[in-house]
Amino acid sequence: MEVTATKGQIIKGKPVADKISESLIQEVNELVKEGISPKLTIVRVGARGDDLAYERGALKRCQSVGIATEVLELAEDITQEEYVKALTEINNDKNVHGILCFRPLPKQLNEEVIKYVIAPEKDVDSFSPINSAKVMEGDTTGFPPCTPTAVVEILKHYGVQLSGAKVAVLGRSMVVGKPAAMLLLNENATVTICHSRTKDLAKVTSEADVLVAAVGRARMVKEEFVKEGAVVIDVGINVDADGNLCGDVDTNAVSDKVSMITPVPAGVGSVTTSILAKHVVKACKLQNNK
Ligand code: NAP
Repeated sequence: MEVTATKGQIIKGKPVADKISESLIQEVNELVKEGISPKLTIVRVGARGDDLAYERGALKRCQSVGIATEVLELAEDITQEEYVKALTEINNDKNVHGILCFRPLPKQLNEEVIKYVIAPEKDVDSFSPINSAKVMEGDTTGFPPCTPTAVVEILKHYGVQLSGAKVAVLGRSMVVGKPAAMLLLNENATVTICHSRTKDLAKVTSEADVLVAAVGRARMVKEEFVKEGAVVIDVGINVDADGNLCGDVDTNAVSDKVSMITPVPAGVGSVTTSILAKHVVKACKLQNNK
C-alpha cells in the first residue's frame, strides 16, 4: 500500500463521476456523429420507492451525457409469460443497447429463468449469468455489476494501490460482495471475503489495507474493525433508528484511524449511475463493432 493521505480524508464520489461523465460526453458525441444514438431501457415492475429513487438518478446521469432513455413500467401482477415477452421485445430492438431490469422481481416472476432471457450483450448491470462468469474469467467484454465496479473506480481514482494490497470485503451477495471481491482480485489484491458466519470478524477485517463494507447494517463497522491507516469504502445504504440515511460504517468512530473513507450519501452511490452510463456506451460500441 502506498497511500499517503492525511487521516480521515473523506473521498467523495462526485469527482469520480464527473471524470467519467467528461469522457462519456465525448464518446457519445463521436457515436452521434456517426448516426448512432446510445440508448438505455429500464424495465421496472410496479413502483417501489428504492427503484424509483435509483431510476431518477440513472435517467438524470444518462441524459446528462447524451444517452437516450426509456422506462418500461410493467404492472405489479404481470405474469412470467408477459414479462418474458416484454423483455424479449427489448432484446430484439436494435435501437436499444443497454437494459436494466430492476430486482428483486415480484414473487410470481421466476428470476432464475428470467436471468437467462436478458441478452447478455445488453445486460449493463450483470443480471445474466454470462456476465457473472465473465467477471470470474476477467473477460473485459462483459458487464460487471455497476456498484462493485464503482468501488474499484473510486479506489483507482484516489490512487489507492490495489496490487499486492490486503483487501477485506464484508458481504458476499451477488450484487455487491462477491463481484467486488472478484474485481479486486483481478486488480491483483489479496482478497478475503467475510460474511455472517465469519469468526472473529473484527480481527479479520482489521488486517486489511482496504475494507469494502457491503452488509446492509447501519454503522456496524466500528473502530476495532479497521486497521490504522486503512482505506474504507462504505457501500451500505441504510436508514438508522432515527430515520437518517447512513452507511455500514460508523464514520465518526473510525475517521481518526483510517486514511480515507467514502461518505454515505455522496460516496459509492453517486458513482454507480456513472458506471451504468459507461456500460451503456460500451454496449453500444460493441454492438456496432466499435
Ligand atoms: P445483502 O444481499 O443483504 O447481503 C449482505 C451481506 O452481508 C451478506 O453476505 C451477509 O452474510 C452479510 N452480513 C449481514 N450481516 C452480517 C453481519 N452481522 N456480519 C457479517 N456479515 C453480515 O445486501 P447487498 O445487496 O449486498 O447490499 C449491501 C449494502 O449495500 C446494503 O446496505 C445496500 O443497500 C447497499 N447497496 C448500495 C448500493 C450503492 O449503489 N451504493 C448498491 C447496492 C447495494 P450472509 O451471506 O452470510 O448472509
